Amino acid sequence: MSALRLPAAFLPSLRCPHCRQPLIQESAACFRCTAPNCGREYPVVAGVPILIDESRSVFNLEDFIARRDTYFRSRPGRLRALRQKLLPSISANIDSADHYRRLAQLLLERRERPQVLIIGGGILGEGMAPLLEQPALQLLESDVSITSRTMLVCDAHDLPFADGTFDGIVAQAVLEHVVDPYRCVEEIHRVLAPDGLVYAETPFMQQVHAGRYDFTRFTHLGHRRLFRHFEEIESGVICGPGMALAWAYRYFLLSFVSSPLLFRLVDVFAHLTAFWLKYLDPYLAQKPGALDAASGYFFLGRRSTQILSDKELVRLYRGRMQ
Ligand SMILES: [Zn+2]
Repeated sequence: MSALRLPAAFLPSLRCPHCRQPLIQESAACFRCTAPNCGREYPVVAGVPILIDESRSVFNLEDFIARRDTYFRSRPGRLRALRQKLLPSISANIDSADHYRRLAQLLLERRERPQVLIIGGGILGEGMAPLLEQPALQLLESDVSITSRTMLVCDAHDLPFADGTFDGIVAQAVLEHVVDPYRCVEEIHRVLAPDGLVYAETPFMQQVHAGRYDFTRFTHLGHRRLFRHFEEIESGVICGPGMALAWAYRYFLLSFVSSPLLFRLVDVFAHLTAFWLKYLDPYLAQKPGALDAASGYFFLGRRSTQILSDKELVRLYRGRMQ
C-alpha cells in the first residue's frame, strides 16, 4: 500500500465533494464522508485520494480503481519520445514564468506558509517552475488523472475543500476542458480565502486538443467575465497570434489526412514549417490587435465580494476595434 501523496496539512480542509461535510480517512485505502445521511466512500488509488462525486462528474471512481496497477509504469514509446524531443514546438507561453514569480511574491506577502491549489497539476505547467521552487508555499497538485505529480484527484466542478481554504489557486489550460467553467470558477471563489489570489491561463484561438474533453473557448472579455467575482490585478495575452496561426495551419493540414502514418508525417511537416511563427508573439502581444487574435489569455486576480457588472465589462475592451 503506497503512502498518502496528499500533504497532511491539507487533511483537515478536505470535504465530501457531494455534501461538503468533513471527510475522515477510514483506512489507507478509503476516505469516508462523516455526514450520516451521506456516508459516501472515496477510494485511495496509488496513494492518491479520488474525491469525485460520480453523480455530477463525467469521471467514475471505478475507472481509477480498475487502472490502479498501471499508474507510474507506462512510458511513452521511444520513437514518440524522440519525435517530441526533436520536433520544434509550435506553442509558446509568452511570460508565464514572470506571472508565476509575481503570484508567488503576492502569496508570500499574505502569510508565511500560503496554501496553494493547482488544478490540472498532473502535468507540469509551462513556466510554473518559479512557483514550484518556492519552498515556503504549500502546494496541492490536483488533477483528474494520476501522474507522478498528482496528490489528489478531484473535479473542479465540486472542489472537495472547506470554504476559504486556499491563499491561491492556479488553473493553467484547464477551464476549456470542463463542461461548466462558470461553476468551476464559483468553486474556486468558494474555496479561496478572502482576498485570495487566482491565476488562470485559458485558450481562445486553439483547436480541439484533448479529444472528447475539450468544450469552451474565451475572448479576452469573455475570460474577464468568467472571473467577474474577482478584482483584476493583471490580464492579457499569454499565447499570441503567431501561435494561433501555427495551430490553425497544423490543424488545417491534418484535416486532409485520416491514416495514422500520414497524420504523423503531416504533423512533422507542420511543425517544421510553422514553429517560427511563435517567435513573433512577444512583439505582437504588445499590440492591441493581439487581444483580438491571441491563442490564449491569462488572468491574475484577487477574490472579491464585489461583482464586475456587464456594463463595466464592455468598457474594459482594449482590442483594435475601438
Ligand atoms: Zn457527503
